[in-house]
Amino acid sequence: MILDTFKLDGKVAVVTGANTGLGQGMCVALAQAGAKVAGVARRSCAETAELVKANGGEFLEIIADLSSSEPVERIVKETVDKFGRADILVNNAGIIIREDAIDYSEEDWNKVIMTNQNVVFFLCQAFAKQYIKQGEGGKIVNVASMLSYQGGIRVPAYTASKSAILGLTRALANEWAKYNINVNAIAPGYMATNNTKQLRSDEQRSGEILERIPAGRWGTPEDMMGAVVFLSSSASAYVNGFTIAVDGGWLAR
Ligand code: NAP
Repeated sequence: MILDTFKLDGKVAVVTGANTGLGQGMCVALAQAGAKVAGVARRSCAETAELVKANGGEFLEIIADLSSSEPVERIVKETVDKFGRADILVNNAGIIIREDAIDYSEEDWNKVIMTNQNVVFFLCQAFAKQYIKQGEGGKIVNVASMLSYQGGIRVPAYTASKSAILGLTRALANEWAKYNINVNAIAPGYMATNNTKQLRSDEQRSGEILERIPAGRWGTPEDMMGAVVFLSSSASAYVNGFTIAVDGGWLAR
């Protein structure tokens, strides 16, 4: 039956940036759908662990700083040591540094590109190797952005990295579909999380953004839940290399 294809019972999901925001919401969604969840973060995921457990799930906390690719192999190993396998990778961790392009420093540029783009690629590669070893396929869900499609203002490195995520998602899907690995992405619109705190505190920018969202509200972590479960499940078996916008209609406007 169709709803059964959305179930994730027996699956193991790894979510980066699991301690807060969209990552936390996606951990809860995956647990509700039946997956065991390994949450990766550079600080405690106690709140997420509680939420996952309250939803009947099992949670493993993996402390790792994704400002370099150094912890990538360990993340796979800790997941497999605890749960015996890995089936779903959600590359959600990301940073944004706002500054006029004319003044943007090389240090800030490298920080953003490293976490949002380089580490995402090496996590994809490490998990794809694990999926190929297991021989049963797997799922990768990258988190893109409206700035995978648009230029943005005062966030040149973020726009470059999130535009790269859209292309990388296509490139990896092309190479790995033959292994039954689906690589897709979700492009959130303007969501009320730490990522947009600075933007939301700017009354003028915040008003302009809200005015342009057809749904008439900022998004929430709950808004990501349906898309992440779909792209993590066999319901999306024939969806490859696509980025789904969860944006209240922002791109349609
Ligand atoms: P958020 O609350 O800032 O979450 C970002 C997550 O990434 C946090 O868990 C953060 O950990 C983690 N992270 C950042 N750098 C890390 C590092 N070096 N090592 C480990 N973890 C690291 O914002 P969010 O909105 O939930 O963002 C989640 C994803 O959605 C990001 O990729 C973001 O770019 C994307 N996105 C957000 C929006 C939006 O409007 N909010 C729109 C489009 C795309 P800490 O809490 O320790 O910083």
